[in-house]
Amino acid sequence: MASYKQSLRAAEKQLQNAECGEQAAFMLLLELAQMEAHNLYMEFDQEIPDALNKQFQEGIARLAENEPLAHILGYEWFYGYRFLVNEDVLIPRPETEELVANILSAYDDYFKMNGNIIAADIGTGSGAIAISLKKEEPSLHVLATDISKKAVDVAARNAELNEVSISFCIGDMLEPLIDRDLKVDILISNPPYIPQEEILEASVKDHEPHVALFGGDDGLKYYRIMFEKAKQVLKPRSMMAFEMGWNQREALLNEVKRYFPDACAEVLKDMNGKDRMLFVYFGIQPNS
Ligand code: GLN
Repeated sequence: MASYKQSLRAAEKQLQNAECGEQAAFMLLLELAQMEAHNLYMEFDQEIPDALNKQFQEGIARLAENEPLAHILGYEWFYGYRFLVNEDVLIPRPETEELVANILSAYDDYFKMNGNIIAADIGTGSGAIAISLKKEEPSLHVLATDISKKAVDVAARNAELNEVSISFCIGDMLEPLIDRDLKVDILISNPPYIPQEEILEASVKDHEPHVALFGGDDGLKYYRIMFEKAKQVLKPRSMMAFEMGWNQREALLNEVKRYFPDACAEVLKDMNGKDRMLFVYFGIQPNS
């Protein structure tokens, strides 16, 4: 017999040396109990139901082995929506919510008035970016591609669960769009951008798909592949939006200059003040 509080305190001790930190115990308990923090505090001295406690202990043991919380739960929250995740897709990150927010704001500023706007998300993974955009802007036509069939299966399931219609294609980078001769207004990607030799936490390295993480020696391999063919899939008046690594600003802007000497480019910071997003505009003068 244990109270919520006793069970939680014991779990926090077990996680003292885990990568996730002690606070993951509280997050796991909230999700498993389907409670908000204030409800849990109200119940703190009540007895925790056996079935819940058992599930909680099992989850804590997995967290202690550095398994990601999202894999234990089977889902992650992103932009207020729930996305199923497994080892075939990257777990959506909070930084990427900011990419979505900035795309929506650019859409309002430069595209909304024209109507019939097409956005494509390259390497969609769980579908988090594509599906959140469609939820927030139902009039947007959204395409999403991934080289992994297993990832597209997860993304398609997420589109169904979140009740949106997205066109999915399986294929390498821009190829599915080129093959179908599709031209889009907004090209989006959170490509794999971690340099090949970078050392990652075990929770990431051992549990998330490397195909979604590593971007060659300098991390920029997939941007170059997309830049190379971007003009084949973009309308003359269009925008590209990418997530990027915090230390890639200069190198990436150099690539943009090399491939698109006349485009307007800007790098935006995330909530931690780190360079995180690259926006490139064609035929648009951003007023930032
Ligand atoms: N932000 C992810 C991480 O640091 C990397 C995602 C990516 O390569 N696109 O784990």
